Amino acid sequence: MRKILVAGNWKMHGSITMVRELLDGLLAGTAADGKADMAVFPPFPYLSLAQTILSGSHIRFGGQTLNPHSQGAHTGETSGSMLKDMGCRYVLVGHSERRAIYGESDNDVAARFKAALESKLHPVLCVGETLEEREQGKTEAVVNRQLDAVIDLVGMDAFRKAVIAYEPVWAIGTGVTASPQQAQDVHAFIRDKLRQQDDIIAGRLRILYGGSVKGSNAAELFAQSDIDGGLVGGASLTAEDFLAIYNAVT
Ligand code: PEP
Repeated sequence: MRKILVAGNWKMHGSITMVRELLDGLLAGTAADGKADMAVFPPFPYLSLAQTILSGSHIRFGGQTLNPHSQGAHTGETSGSMLKDMGCRYVLVGHSERRAIYGESDNDVAARFKAALESKLHPVLCVGETLEEREQGKTEAVVNRQLDAVIDLVGMDAFRKAVIAYEPVWAIGTGVTASPQQAQDVHAFIRDKLRQQDDIIAGRLRILYGGSVKGSNAAELFAQSDIDGGLVGGASLTAEDFLAIYNAVT
């Protein structure tokens, strides 16, 4: 049985006050032996504060991206080993904002996935189609291509340590959520594809849904057989909203 993971991507939001209040609220509202795992993805400047507040607790944290190089002349960038050093367990790779705004190609994403594993981080690989691609019936082809880029570089065995997040681009930050059936269909497609490579790894892999998850729609999404949690943006920015999603896990 895969344990639900409720993960919060704070994007470029936050302040010292907000981080303290939010993490204190999450610690108070969740339990170590709780029904779900929880992780947060603060902006880089707040990782140190997150490490201090969450140290020894049941809430995990991670970086929102990483540079594929281990060190060197890459001004402004952060390596996987630096994230590991800060206590990160996870790192997001291939978030649609990184792909669309910062031009990360499928191969760039695969290189980041590899670098994450080399730094002993668990990559959370984000995949998903745009509205135009969905309307053209290309959802599975796009997700397939995004997954293949990673599998071709690192092999299926690397997915033992990974999490996948299916995030349809048209549902991110728009208030429009994929219906539970729409999401389940793509999650099942992903798991079936990976099962063809390794039944056990695919069976254990957590596949999160992301795209306007809220307290009001989380329970129905998490009830789907191939949805193992959520990657949450906007609704992870206050303890009240994020805990409403955590509490939707039955
Ligand atoms: C995200 O940023 O990954 C996300 C899913 O955002 P939102 O929940 O706001 O749609």
